[in-house]
Amino acid sequence: MSTISRVEITHHQLPLDPVFPASWDTQPRTKFPATIVRVFDDEGNCGIGSGDAMYGFDDYQRYFIGQDPLDLDRHAAVLSNVEFHAGRPWPMDVAMWDLAGKIRDEPIWKMVGGTSNRIRAYASSGVHRSVPEMVQVARQAIALGFPALKVRFGRPSLDEDLAVISAVRDAVGEQLELMVDCNQGWRMAWDTQRPWDVDHATVVAQRLEAESVFWMEEPLHRGDYDGMSELRERVNIRIAGGELTRESYEFRELLTRGCFDVFQPDCVCSMGISGLRHLAYEVHEQGKIFTPHTWGNGIGVMANLHLTAGTVGAPFIEFPFDPPEWTTARRDFILSETIEADGDGWITLSDRPGLGIELDEDVLARTRTGQATFA
Ligand SMILES: [Mg+2]
Repeated sequence: MSTISRVEITHHQLPLDPVFPASWDTQPRTKFPATIVRVFDDEGNCGIGSGDAMYGFDDYQRYFIGQDPLDLDRHAAVLSNVEFHAGRPWPMDVAMWDLAGKIRDEPIWKMVGGTSNRIRAYASSGVHRSVPEMVQVARQAIALGFPALKVRFGRPSLDEDLAVISAVRDAVGEQLELMVDCNQGWRMAWDTQRPWDVDHATVVAQRLEAESVFWMEEPLHRGDYDGMSELRERVNIRIAGGELTRESYEFRELLTRGCFDVFQPDCVCSMGISGLRHLAYEVHEQGKIFTPHTWGNGIGVMANLHLTAGTVGAPFIEFPFDPPEWTTARRDFILSETIEADGDGWITLSDRPGLGIELDEDVLARTRTGQATFA
């Protein structure tokens, strides 16, 4: 048995030129921050994770040093306590799954259940473009083989947002499933705009339903349970959310109260692979869709691909992709190889151990910084 000998956390920032005007951020992004967590054992194995900036985690590292890396449920229980007292320490959970995979010589998709090593991706756009440009984005998604495209709302007027959906639907017909992210669940730290209320969300939902939109994402504040279950009573379109909801009891409440048709927790932000592998089955057993948020870097994308393909699967999973501002090269800059879908939108996971990825150490050295938030 090996023991955990060391945890290393480093911050990095990729300069972005052209800038990335993320639709959910009031400030155009000039940098893309990433925090890398590495967990070493005393036999020279190293597991990798990423996600949260992990500020303050140094104080808790001693609860892992000297432990058996394979005691994943024990480590997840400690991380759940750390989350209550501090930030979102789940990159550490992902790093320990990667380490455990390397020790066992098994890929994570197999360790979590082995249901499949394949999953289909949907193109998740991130920029508010004009109507003709969005039609172009949709045509490109079809050409690349993606079965679905997610469009962002939040332009100056609702009519402008709706014009995009109508034009895209007219242009592509049934060739592409469309999803709309309303981004009302949470805000960036500096953004004090209030979320929609259920009456406004209902008006939008009815319009999206008329355009056969597959799901409406985050139509209300993440804690508006009454609003979400009311919205689901009023309309027929699927309601999605939960991308940054933290705790298992919150997800259980969302399930019990009928708030969502589609659950989107991200294992690098909430509950880790350790917790979400169980939640995935709870969601699935109730006839709901489990398909994680993956907007972040390639480590998060890969961790959620393993988690989902290896457990309950999904009709499709988020693939952050909106060139030229959001390319796989930018998204996966920390990795030696970008993650790509094939010509039909499928991603096949390898049999390499753990996450099956390698870091690009030269890029990490060049982009090293002291902090990794968007602030
Ligand atoms: Mg979202």
